[in-house]
Amino acid sequence: MKRLLCLPVAIGLLFFTSCNTAKQTAAKENGKIDITIVQINDVYEIAPLDGGKAGGMARVATVKKIQQSKNANTIMVMAGDFLSPSVYNSLKFEGNRIRGKQMVDAMNNAGVDIAVFGNHEFDIPEADVQSRINESAFQWVSSNTFQKKGNDIVPFVKNGVPFPETYIRTFTDADGTTARIGFIGLTLPFNKAAYVSYTDVFTAAQKYYDQIKDSCDAVIAVTHQAMDDDIKLARQIPGLALVIGGHEHERHYAKIGNVYITKADANAKSAYIIKLNLNKTNKELKLKADILDVNENIALDSTTNVVVKKWTDIANSSYASLGFDATKVCMQSGEPLDGREAYIRTQQTNFTKLIVAAMEKASPTADVCIINSGSIRVDDILQMPVTQYDVIRSLPFGGSIMEVDMKGSLLIKILNTAKKNVGSGGFLQYSAALSNDNNGWVLKNIPVDAGKTYKIAITDFLMTGGEANLDFLTKDNPDMVKVYPVFTDLNDSRSDVRRAIIRYMEGK
Ligand SMILES: [Zn+2]
Repeated sequence: MKRLLCLPVAIGLLFFTSCNTAKQTAAKENGKIDITIVQINDVYEIAPLDGGKAGGMARVATVKKIQQSKNANTIMVMAGDFLSPSVYNSLKFEGNRIRGKQMVDAMNNAGVDIAVFGNHEFDIPEADVQSRINESAFQWVSSNTFQKKGNDIVPFVKNGVPFPETYIRTFTDADGTTARIGFIGLTLPFNKAAYVSYTDVFTAAQKYYDQIKDSCDAVIAVTHQAMDDDIKLARQIPGLALVIGGHEHERHYAKIGNVYITKADANAKSAYIIKLNLNKTNKELKLKADILDVNENIALDSTTNVVVKKWTDIANSSYASLGFDATKVCMQSGEPLDGREAYIRTQQTNFTKLIVAAMEKASPTADVCIINSGSIRVDDILQMPVTQYDVIRSLPFGGSIMEVDMKGSLLIKILNTAKKNVGSGGFLQYSAALSNDNNGWVLKNIPVDAGKTYKIAITDFLMTGGEANLDFLTKDNPDMVKVYPVFTDLNDSRSDVRRAIIRYMEGK
């Protein structure tokens, strides 16, 4: 590096000595350069949340513009998880499922420069992922995540151009100092989508770091994996400048040796502002990372907001056809409701208890209410006030509450399977009156009788037998005594579990 600098410095000195009588207007190349990175990760919502107070891609656009006005060398990085899950996945526009198109549109307008895959990108079908990639105006980088094409493992492509395993971006400042910043992109091998293939995160990281480190002034890993793995990565490659991470939905910060690790809150409720100050003369890199709450203090960027509004209007008119008013507040105050996947798939939370209570209110004659945790997809904590949209995005699939009579033997079989399904979407949430002691299942202090008939209120999806290990749960099961007609009247809370929840929240 120092040898490389000799020539420009020498030329600069010569130039200076020969011209020092005429005042120079342009600043001398001083070997120092500042770069700003705006980081967001795990963004599923294009519009602000928490009653309009937090997040929103139009605010994110403003955050970037403010930083850009201070330093032209500003880029925005998205560390994965933005195409799914979203209520937009089930909505259609111009005959096609929207499936992340709204987010790519918003990201393009907000000025995202670099993105990596998160695990949720592969929730949607391959053809939709491909369309979203082709629509994206940003650079993708993928060092360990590839596409399976028959027997071949190939890079994903954008409009025919393969994704690079590494990406080097050159920055130049006003005085002509340049910096080459290298990026590698790493995604945890989580989703088992048939069209995706992963190589080991740590092996890939080492390989591509080694490949570019000597030709870059700094190397940054943009990752989507658990914090523990980011820490492991930082220990393995102490020469990394920074790990821009995602996957956790809460902010994280660590410094492992000289490697910084940053993660912002999900849904752009915050963004990290990372300032790199590079001195090429002594090869010193200073780094400063500050978290910024993306709240009402940040104005909505008008250009991006037009795009956000376009998609929100499309979505809202679709909900209106189902009888919902997405903008209406249904719960004004109370404790935030915990819909985070790690919790709702392993235990009860105040949100799952509320959902079950809402089902019980909608179906007062049922002995037991049952819903699968997998129908709750928000993976977020709902802050007050809660709008109808918050309920819709929490349970994007909706579906009716069905009433069935079944033998206690079948109920016991369902409940035993639910215990085995801990950690998955097949983990069931059910009435608090049910409990399990050493002798088996108990309902209101009375053991569940295998031969007795119970009335159960259950989501229609569960009755398809489509949930994990619950394929026996259909109307044809010999222990199913009676299946009542499906409630389709929009005035009936049982017509949609979300309607039941909204009305319960409203106290109706
Ligand atoms: Zn993730």
